[in-house]
Formats: sequence, C-alpha cells, structure tokens
Amino acid sequence: MTLCVAIDGPSGAGKSTVGHALAQRIGATFVDTGLMYRALTLAALERGVDPDDGPALGDLAGTCEIEVERPGPEHPDRLETVRLDGRDVTDAVRTPTVDRAVSAVSRHAEVREAMLPVQRAAAFRHDTVMVGRDIGTVVLPDATLKVYLVAAAAVRAGRRAAEMGAPERYEEYLAEILRRDTADSGRELAPLRQAEGAIVLDTGVLDVEGCVAVIVERLEAMGA
Ligand code: C5P
Repeated sequence: MTLCVAIDGPSGAGKSTVGHALAQRIGATFVDTGLMYRALTLAALERGVDPDDGPALGDLAGTCEIEVERPGPEHPDRLETVRLDGRDVTDAVRTPTVDRAVSAVSRHAEVREAMLPVQRAAAFRHDTVMVGRDIGTVVLPDATLKVYLVAAAAVRAGRRAAEMGAPERYEEYLAEILRRDTADSGRELAPLRQAEGAIVLDTGVLDVEGCVAVIVERLEAMGA
C-alpha cells in the first residue's frame, strides 16, 4: 500500500508550493491535478471545442495525451512540466484565457470520468502527494492523510499580484479568485469541499515550512 497525502483547497491557497515541498521532504511523487484540467482546457480552446459541451470534452480527453512530469534541469524554476500530445504547454496553461475557461471545462461528468483513472493510477504506483479540489473527497477517499489548505481571498490575490510582479492588478486577481472559488465550490460534481477528517491549515498564518512541518509531524504520529 502506497502512502498518499491528499491536499485540496481553493485557487491560490498554496497547494502546489506546499505539496511540492512536502513531496520532496518525504520522497514522494508530486501530482498537481489542476495542470491536467488546464491542459485539457488549452486543448479545447485550441481546437474550438465548446467549454459547455461535456460529451465533446469527454471525447477530447480520451483522444489527447496529457502527461505531467518532473521538469528537466533546463527549468529549475518549475515544479512540474505538463505536455499535451508531447508538446510542452507548461507556460501556456497558466494564461488568463485558460484561467477563465478551466472551471467551465472541469465541471462536466465526462471530463471528470476521464481524469479519475489517470489520477488514481498515479497514486497506486508510488508514494504520492496529490493536490487539487476533490482529491480527499473523490479521487483518493482512502488517502493516508487529507489536508485542506485555506487563506483569505485578499491574501491569495496579494500573493498572486506579487508573484506576477503586478501590484496594480490586485483587484483583477481578487475578482478572478472569487469567481473561481464560487464556480469550483458551487458545481454539482466533485465540488471543492473539506474532506471528512482533513486537517485544515491556513497559509496566511503558516508559511510553507510551517505547513510541511505540521503535515510531517501528523504522518509520523500515524506511523506512516
Ligand atoms: O489548481 P488550479 O488552479 O491549477 O486548478 C485549475 C482548475 O482546475 C480549478 O479552478 C478547477 O476548476 C479545476 N480542478 C478540478 N479538480 C481538481 C483540480 C483542479 O476541478 N482536482
């Protein structure tokens, strides 16, 4: 039985940063499921598939190849590299156009059904830290440990503006974060929810190392 830590939470709560640091610390594979939904959204936008057309998106998910892998040494700044049909789309999936469409694409049953086996298979092969919106609730309900990361929307928008070096766009980032919070928590299928038994950590209070320390301590206390 592999060890798996499920980390869920809203956009910009720091799931990737904390998840990646944790994976390095415990020698696990890091999987960011958001990148998979982003890559599918990019494929849909490029091929003119309507983000409201669930069956067509399901077909697209079945025909395009999405791979999330460790970045090569030429990308020391990246946590992961994502490929769409072999093409490196890591930068292309983080554009505002993809941000705006990704929640619409990921709400369809056909899309979620296509993603689920790929995500589960990753966790059965290796010790894994998997981050997303529904990992503790749907993808890995038997995860060794479930974590729910939160931070106030203002904190998340402020961090995004700082990361992008664009303090003047704070209001825009805040609006986008609030819009995605509503879409991801309000959808019918696999909505963003705190899983039962999850430990809740506020990244506005604890820094990355602080979060990792709490999680590692909890895993050790469980004998995992
Ligand atoms: O985490 P990130 O912001 O990259 O995720 C992009 C979008 O992908 C989310 O806003 C959500 O709509 C979708 N997503 C999801 N389920 C996951 C991970 C991401 O629906 N497990």
